[in-house]
Amino acid sequence: MSASHKTILDTLQRVFGYESFRGDQQAIIEHLVDGGDALVLMPTGGGKSLCYQIPALVRSGTGVVVSPLIALMQDQVDTLTELGVRAAFLNSTQDWRTAREVEQAFLAGELDLLYVAPERLLTERCLELLAGGEIALFAIDEAHCVSQWGHDFRPEYLGLSILSERWPAVPRIALTATATTVTRREIAQRLDLTAARHFVSSFDRPNIRYRIVEKAEVKRQLLQFIQTEHQGDCGIVYGLSRARVEDTAEFLCQHGIPALPYHAGLSAAVRAGNQSRFLREDGLVIVATIAFGMGIDKPDVRFVAHIDLPKSVEGYYQETGRAGRDGLPATAWLAYGLQDVVQQRRMIDESPGEDLFRRRLGSQLDAMLGLCETVSCRRQRLLAYFDQRIEPCGNCDTCLEPPQAWDGTVAAQKILSAVYRLWRERGQRFGAGHLIDILRGKLTERIKQYEHQSLSVFGIGSDLSEQAWRGVFRQLLAQSLLAVDQEGYGTLALTDASRQVLKGEKTLMLRREPEKTARSSRSTSTRRKEAEIVLPAEAQQRFEALRAWRAEVARSHGVPAYVIFHDATLREIAVQSPSSLDELSHISGVGLRKLEAYGEELLRNVRAAP
Ligand code: ADP
Ligand code: ZN
Repeated sequence: MSASHKTILDTLQRVFGYESFRGDQQAIIEHLVDGGDALVLMPTGGGKSLCYQIPALVRSGTGVVVSPLIALMQDQVDTLTELGVRAAFLNSTQDWRTAREVEQAFLAGELDLLYVAPERLLTERCLELLAGGEIALFAIDEAHCVSQWGHDFRPEYLGLSILSERWPAVPRIALTATATTVTRREIAQRLDLTAARHFVSSFDRPNIRYRIVEKAEVKRQLLQFIQTEHQGDCGIVYGLSRARVEDTAEFLCQHGIPALPYHAGLSAAVRAGNQSRFLREDGLVIVATIAFGMGIDKPDVRFVAHIDLPKSVEGYYQETGRAGRDGLPATAWLAYGLQDVVQQRRMIDESPGEDLFRRRLGSQLDAMLGLCETVSCRRQRLLAYFDQRIEPCGNCDTCLEPPQAWDGTVAAQKILSAVYRLWRERGQRFGAGHLIDILRGKLTERIKQYEHQSLSVFGIGSDLSEQAWRGVFRQLLAQSLLAVDQEGYGTLALTDASRQVLKGEKTLMLRREPEKTARSSRSTSTRRKEAEIVLPAEAQQRFEALRAWRAEVARSHGVPAYVIFHDATLREIAVQSPSSLDELSHISGVGLRKLEAYGEELLRNVRAAP
């Protein structure tokens, strides 16, 4: 074992209380300790923070961490302080006196880690400050923010190339949990890391179960999902608009699920308050627009639900990745329907900017739709988007309850010819709802008003249910065999590709949802059990007692519970029931500092529990 390897392993065990490194951690850390630059792609929960925290501790000087997540800096610093690491942050939430103290500590070489927001870092004052001290490394967290095509673009990130110009000898590490090959290249280029070593981990998060359901009454579906599978759990629900977020949070509360809204229309104080409650309280659901959650390192989020279709696979992957960071079972649930496709296609058509930009949005949406409509493994499809290949996973809805593929060519032809005839013969365009009424031969007021009962396509589709027709429409839209009319309001038109299907030159295989009634109560209850971690009765009692103790400590320190100990650590203590400090020190997550601070109390709790 080399000297530096021994030092970093010792730091891992002593400070963080972990036995061994995971994945690429060791290689990354050694590379940085030796002064190299790195670009790190690792999924959420993979353990990115240690990749710069340990080198910062081992190298002389302060590790400067650039992060856009001002609201989370306090918690990050608290977590490190609990571990006995000397950490601080500089951002706009501080008064000048506190900031001065942090600056002095940095200059005096008394900090291991310093967190700074990018806009702050780029000020001349801050650059001068940094020039006056010793820097161990620069870590650029959430590095995908530099990508202009990405979902979290931050213009300030573009200025970060200054770091390599001013400090060519200081190692830099950029980290992100999401990047396609194209985005990765963009990050490397803009941050001047093309010559850096790239560490690309598998993106797979095997503990997350991916599920995409057909949208009907989405609020009810969401409620049922939470009640049957995640009652009492912490979760995040994503919606696209403020109104939808407000409405859904209220609905959940009315039905006994404690939920808080989070969106850009709320004041900064309310947002910060809601986020802080979410981090600190057990069993709270936050209903949010995408403005919420980047970098949320709450480890025990048990589900992430999307009630609207995300705009890209990258964004979806990033958001669902916030579930189950602790490695325990978690669910990513998405409800998706015809209206989502119509709405998003229209939003893209109406969005300002260049054609190239719109085309890129369009292909991002297509990839997302491909994931929703696939009849093969979701995870396979998701990872393929990041150029990674795996076998079918056995932990997604299509693996567990395979949907059937059916030949939808004739059904598609019926729809396309209805659209064609209405336009050719009468110069009219309609939306899916009315077209379904025509196909199913329903004599509504609107049908009578337009005399659509006299069309030759009237009633030719009575063989399929309304829901089945909606499925066909949705898939035609998803595959761009139908287009949303640019002028109309969700009215539909043919595309160039429609012709092939109409002429019978192309067979169309479509996805049939597993019948709703087929979801017997038995399958629901087994699902519930799989998601729970069952402890033996006595260990469960010890675990509850330890949790209650942790809640007290967290409250008196003013930090989230997981800053004191993770559930996984308390669970292991409950199971092992250690009787000495030495035994306790071997439990994952119990480092030297925490052993000193809490060891005796933990042992007392274990002994006292029945
Ligand atoms: P990321 O930033 O990649 O999402 P984190 O750095 O927050 O992930 O790490 C995720 C969790 O895994 C944290 O609770 C961290 O303490 C834990 N962890 C990281 N590395 C190890 C390791 N080598 N052994 C055990 N736990 C680890
Ligand atoms: Zn699968």
